[in-house]
Amino acid sequence: MNRIELSSGQVASVWRALECRERDIVEQVLQQPDYPPLPPCPECGAAAEQMESMMEPPRFGVHEQAILINVKPCWHKFRAVVDIDQFT
Ligand SMILES: [Zn+2]
Repeated sequence: MNRIELSSGQVASVWRALECRERDIVEQVLQQPDYPPLPPCPECGAAAEQMESMMEPPRFGVHEQAILINVKPCWHKFRAVVDIDQFT
């Protein structure tokens, strides 16, 4: 399945939601299954059970930074070119 292109604004909001969730887990020392819910899939709105996010590995000759997000269980895959300034 091809990756769905997200705007940098869309991906930034998902990224921020993931970071907040991560922070809650660390600060409140939460254990599964008390983890806060993941943000919904940006494509189908399904409740995500797992969301992997990573920076796309740099490629020769490509001068852009992208974030990849994989959502389970619906298996939508996203890619968004990001303006790094939004993440610093
Ligand atoms: Zn989905």
